Amino acid sequence: MGTKLLIVEGKSGKKQVIQEAADLLVKGEVVAIPTETVYGLGANARDEAAVDKIFKAKGRPNDNPLIVHVASKEQLFSLVKSCPTYVEKLIDTFSPGPITYVLESSGKIASNVTAGLSTVGLRIPKNEITLTLLEQTNLPIAAPSANLSGKPSPTTAQHVLEDLDGKIAAVLDGGPANVGLESTVVDCTQEIPVILRLGKITPDDIKQVAGEVKLATNITENTRTPKSPGMKYKHYAPDVPLILVQDNNKLQEIIDEEGSKGNRVGVLTSTGITNEIKADQIIILGRDEEEIAAKLYDALRSFKQNEVDIVVCESFPREGVGKAVMDRIERAANKII
Ligand code: AMP
Ligand code: MG
Repeated sequence: MGTKLLIVEGKSGKKQVIQEAADLLVKGEVVAIPTETVYGLGANARDEAAVDKIFKAKGRPNDNPLIVHVASKEQLFSLVKSCPTYVEKLIDTFSPGPITYVLESSGKIASNVTAGLSTVGLRIPKNEITLTLLEQTNLPIAAPSANLSGKPSPTTAQHVLEDLDGKIAAVLDGGPANVGLESTVVDCTQEIPVILRLGKITPDDIKQVAGEVKLATNITENTRTPKSPGMKYKHYAPDVPLILVQDNNKLQEIIDEEGSKGNRVGVLTSTGITNEIKADQIIILGRDEEEIAAKLYDALRSFKQNEVDIVVCESFPREGVGKAVMDRIERAANKII
């Protein structure tokens, strides 16, 4: 299958291009769509066969449910049973935006979307192109990140093509994603919201609106326990192994140690300590956590096996979205020292 690159540019052509993507989705095809978090791999959430194409294209395990994207609060509520009162407050505060609500499903979507669970993850993306697309299809669109399973999520249409060219009908190119990390996922089925995945909307942000918040154990355990050397991780993995350095004062020491083993060393760093660093390839992510988040996945994809043997990454401040940044890097890392 040839994958069509649909570029959204100029006011007049815009509507037509979005309509072309909408038509493909309505026909049961899979289309990669821009969102503010990362690119999503979209299909009609009511069409089991279309949704199955997402799992096949990504190589995603069938037991990992997909997030359903909708255009409005009304459409969101039409897909769920009654829910705690804080949910509407969260939606009014943070949506459209980088947050997914896990709620009891009213069963109006295909069962493979939710991997057979009684709950469904729902999100209103903050991207003008995709909101228009959702309105034009008038459908809930299931869309996980548009990468091959295990790879870093795509933040540009180019990244999507790197992974999925020839496997999906089209990519709607809306430019780079500005948040750059996947949405915060919040389980809203209980009286107190539980964060299942960290993202730009922080636990504190949610607490301020809902009054209380909890973190799921997969998050607390991940950030507390340094991973043992050589462990394999399924998520966000770059082409080459990555070492996360906890004490940034030791960054150059670890780079030199890897170099002395004959390794060509790549470095992921912020602007803060860059001047002093010497290595074979240095990627500077930026000044603040938001910039670091926006550039992280592109940087992870930029390190190529034939150019460096290992990537050494500094620890970034866990402020705001920085918590989610560090969560992703810890999951991408082969070793934390
Ligand atoms: P992705 O869109 O590829 O970033 O993945 C979607 C994330 O949302 C995965 O971590 C899923 O496990 C999670 N998710 C989606 N639906 C549900 C649900 N009903 N319950 C719990 N987690 C969910
Ligand atoms: Mg994903």
